[in-house]
Amino acid sequence: MINTLPEFVIELRQTVKSYGEGEAETFALCGVDLQIAQGEFVAIMGPSGSGKSTAMNIIGCLDTPSSGQYLFQGVDIGTLSRDQRALLRRHYIGFIFQGFNLLGKTSAIENVELPLLYRGFPAHERHAKAMEALRSVGLEHVAHHTPGELSGGQQQRVAIARAIVTDPLVLLADEPTGNLDTAKSIEVMELLQSFNREKGITIIMVTHEHDMAAYAKRTIHFRDGKIDTLPETKALP
Ligand code: ADP
Repeated sequence: MINTLPEFVIELRQTVKSYGEGEAETFALCGVDLQIAQGEFVAIMGPSGSGKSTAMNIIGCLDTPSSGQYLFQGVDIGTLSRDQRALLRRHYIGFIFQGFNLLGKTSAIENVELPLLYRGFPAHERHAKAMEALRSVGLEHVAHHTPGELSGGQQQRVAIARAIVTDPLVLLADEPTGNLDTAKSIEVMELLQSFNREKGITIIMVTHEHDMAAYAKRTIHFRDGKIDTLPETKALP
């Protein structure tokens, strides 16, 4: 599907997302232009209702624009079927959520193996790759524990292992430290930063915390369904 490497891994062109029709139509995104190159680490900030989740759902191929374009590696997502989008998601995108979203009755290693199961890897290969991913987040010693036996910080690290086990091109993180205290948040951010620097994984992360956004190389602010293009201003004396 992908022949030549385009300049940007993610490109939104005049992307609009609206809900409802006629007078009831509301706009979640009102013409967003955004370009993200391979290897970037971008933080997305902005008030509640400003369009962050809508943008992340489109970037993650979970939703499509009402108008405008979304290109992933130069491929216009609007031209793909639902199944093709699911396939693209499975092969190229990893997700991390605020609430970890691990299967509760399933061991850490089985949780990490799950994306590989969907991709048809044989059991021994699944197991080896999942163990390697758990090792990369420092958790191979709890591989056979269930999420309930782990701390919140450990659960989020298992979720990170699950997100990176398929070697995704892009990692989407939706408030990954929203449920964690400061020390655990720093651990998670340092892990994400190391995956960005060492593996070159492109990371896009929604956060409300400036301390966490500071780990990113670039911060984008959403406001009223648009990217706030006003330059950062310093208070004048
Ligand atoms: P954020 O993530 O920044 O809080 P959202 O992307 O969730 O913002 O929402 C942007 C706007 O779009 C809000 O006004 C929200 O009410 C509206 N919206 C989001 N999803 C839907 C939906 N499924 N139906 C109707 N309106 C929606």
